[in-house]
Amino acid sequence: MIDSITFLAKVIGSRWLDILDKSGEKILLKMARNLLNRADISEIRHNPFLESIPNAVKKDRCGVCHSTGLVKYLECRSLDSGYAPLYMCKSCLCLYNATAEFNEMDVVEWQKRWAEDPEFYKVPTGDEFVALVDRAAPTFEWLENDLGVRFSGSYMEIGAGSGIMAASALRFFSDVYVLDHVHDRLLKVREIVGERYHVIDYDDGLNIKVDTVLIWHAMEHFLNPGGVFAFGAGQLKKKGYFLMQVPVLTEEHVYPGHYYFYNELVFKRLAEQNGLSILNFYYDHAMNAMTAVLRKN
Ligand SMILES: [Zn+2]
Repeated sequence: MIDSITFLAKVIGSRWLDILDKSGEKILLKMARNLLNRADISEIRHNPFLESIPNAVKKDRCGVCHSTGLVKYLECRSLDSGYAPLYMCKSCLCLYNATAEFNEMDVVEWQKRWAEDPEFYKVPTGDEFVALVDRAAPTFEWLENDLGVRFSGSYMEIGAGSGIMAASALRFFSDVYVLDHVHDRLLKVREIVGERYHVIDYDDGLNIKVDTVLIWHAMEHFLNPGGVFAFGAGQLKKKGYFLMQVPVLTEEHVYPGHYYFYNELVFKRLAEQNGLSILNFYYDHAMNAMTAVLRKN
């Protein structure tokens, strides 16, 4: 029921916004936006980024496919020096690391501490900034060549971190939208690269449609990655590209803040649930990472 109300509000509200946008009615446009935001109160309840308590085992609910049926898979060494209990979802076959849940770690506080470290995701300036942006560009070039496409239009990055990869995306896309729970670093990047770089939050994201969505080493950190995936897929235009890179399950990637591990079957399941098709999977054996490229149907 909530989903259908939200859907209707979004359809009617978005249509109205389109019409007003074209007619140039600024005041009415502002009113329409406010109304749409209020109509989206039910959506806020579903904001997948707001989930902060790891409880997948306790609730028996997989954060990826939202099914029940998590079973103990194995224990392995964790970078926090203890052992990590890993569970498998019988439905989508993702792996869930229950360390934070079982140790009742205050994940929000923990992530905040990491994020406040000035060395973590530092935004450099001058030549150092340009060099970092240069280093990120070949990922897009490589994907363009392998997929035989030229990226264009708009780009949204979820969990943009330092915002450097998105800065490099400006060389391929006309507008770049970045989301992250920490805005400071992204605003610093915007100061350097200019106004085609938009720092947005979840609510802003609901009002835009983009040609490409990228989630690079962030899906493992979400407690509701299925919800985040659905959000990304929902804001993609038809035939738009969804690019994702995640660490695969290897010892150096197991630590309490990495909740979910993925494989090809998990992405196939997510693709089916959200109206996308798999284009390709790539493996980086040096970094033990996998890249999934999907396309909206
Ligand atoms: Zn699952």
